[in-house]
Amino acid sequence: MTTLLWFKQDLRLHDNPLLEGLDLTQPCLPVYCLDPAQFVADEQGVRRCGAHRAQHLLAALRALDNGLRTLGSPGLLLLPQAAEQALPELCRELDVRLLRTHSEYAPDELARLRQIAGQLPDSCQLQQVQDNRLFALDDLPFGLDKLPQVFTRFRNQIERQLPELHEVRARQRMGPWPRDAMGMREAWPTLAQFGLQAPDAEPRSALPSGAGEAAGLDWLSQYLWRDQSVRHYKETRNGLLGRDFSSKLSPWLADGSLSVRHVWRELRRHEDTYGANDSTYWLGFELLWREFFRLALQQHGGAWFRLRGLSDHAPVANRDERFEQWRSGQTGNDFVDACLQELNRTGFISNRGRQIAASYLVHDLQQDWRLGAAWFEQQLIDFEVGSNWGNWAYIAGVGHDPRGGRAFNVREQAKRHDPHGAYVRTWLADR
Ligand SMILES: Cc1cc2nc3c(=O)[nH]c(=O)nc-3n(C[C@H](O)[C@H](O)[C@H](O)COP(=O)(O)OP(=O)(O)OC[C@H]3O[C@@H](n4cnc5c(N)ncnc54)[C@H](O)[C@@H]3O)c2cc1C
Repeated sequence: MTTLLWFKQDLRLHDNPLLEGLDLTQPCLPVYCLDPAQFVADEQGVRRCGAHRAQHLLAALRALDNGLRTLGSPGLLLLPQAAEQALPELCRELDVRLLRTHSEYAPDELARLRQIAGQLPDSCQLQQVQDNRLFALDDLPFGLDKLPQVFTRFRNQIERQLPELHEVRARQRMGPWPRDAMGMREAWPTLAQFGLQAPDAEPRSALPSGAGEAAGLDWLSQYLWRDQSVRHYKETRNGLLGRDFSSKLSPWLADGSLSVRHVWRELRRHEDTYGANDSTYWLGFELLWREFFRLALQQHGGAWFRLRGLSDHAPVANRDERFEQWRSGQTGNDFVDACLQELNRTGFISNRGRQIAASYLVHDLQQDWRLGAAWFEQQLIDFEVGSNWGNWAYIAGVGHDPRGGRAFNVREQAKRHDPHGAYVRTWLADR
């Protein structure tokens, strides 16, 4: 009986429910579908995935391919096609009996999964396992329809009754590919093939280098155990420059090279060893924000992507040259321009930088918040649909926390967080 493992945002071998309880005597084909449509620019010139993330993703896939080989598998079958085009056909051709993949929470991805399910041969079962979130839906102290509408209430309820985190035991071996799949391997894709140019290396980047599982686990171990930077997280997390002001776990969490449940357990183990403090607590607090946005998107679906989001009123929403100036870092506001320069050159900016850049676009330039969210989607290495669109909607005042929008006073923020102008100088030096 052939099993097809469809990897998506779970590019790892540790703590991955996709690999749980596989019968090693049976053929098993690990597949990733790299949909070329995500690299095609829309009428605004914006892609769903830009060069920074594409480069990171290809490296993470390469790492997964290598990891699978160390377990005796011939590796990862990487198909440069949309999953809905490739997988039903593949299942038919290889007489796949079980197609296993992680569950989804966002509307486009749910629709794709439904489409695939409808096209599978009757002999093939689709099985969904938990995605890279902390808690299984069934273990939450409330149903999805009763999800608290404000983060603080969500967090309080979770913290009062913390659900168990399921841990998947590491695999020692994987089964072989089905024989007929051996001839399907294609040349490893390149950025150029998708019309993307490899970004220049950027020594000013705040991100630690490396993509894929081993690099992610190594960084986690450095952050929690070797350097123990986590012990100062709460005081430094609003920083703008350097490697250690925040955990920088997001790129690995986003593509699933790191299991968020593993991160959570390691954080608790760190606390058991060295003691809990405000900082160790706060890192968990932020991981709960990530969880909250996932659940909220799952609950509200497509409504999140409307101009008025979850609110009754549409905010002001221009679409003009001020968006072009913002996205190219040419607004004339040095702090905002520095944020966009950093984003465009590295695929990353700090949380504080994201908040200020987003607030400026929405509240000062009065542009449609969705343009900014789409630009971040293209540029961010750590793009996650829930966290990105949720934070944007929140800042635009149309999201979950009904506080009427979070408008930041950019001048005040720059004074507070970049008092000597080091951040602006770093990113606007060559202007
Ligand atoms: C406009 C805007 C867009 C954003 N887009 C994304 C996105 O696409 N992907 C993404 O992972 N985060 C996004 N964030 C949240 C946050 O900025 C990043 O998670 C964080 O900067 C990543 O760096 P870090 O790993 O060092 O974070 P840390 O401060 O070390 O936090 C640890 C982890 O907690 C989670 N986290 C932290 N802050 C938030 C938050 N506000 N919302 C949700 N999760 C959080 C992330 O998984 C992060 O890796 C966005 C924030 C804003 C304001």
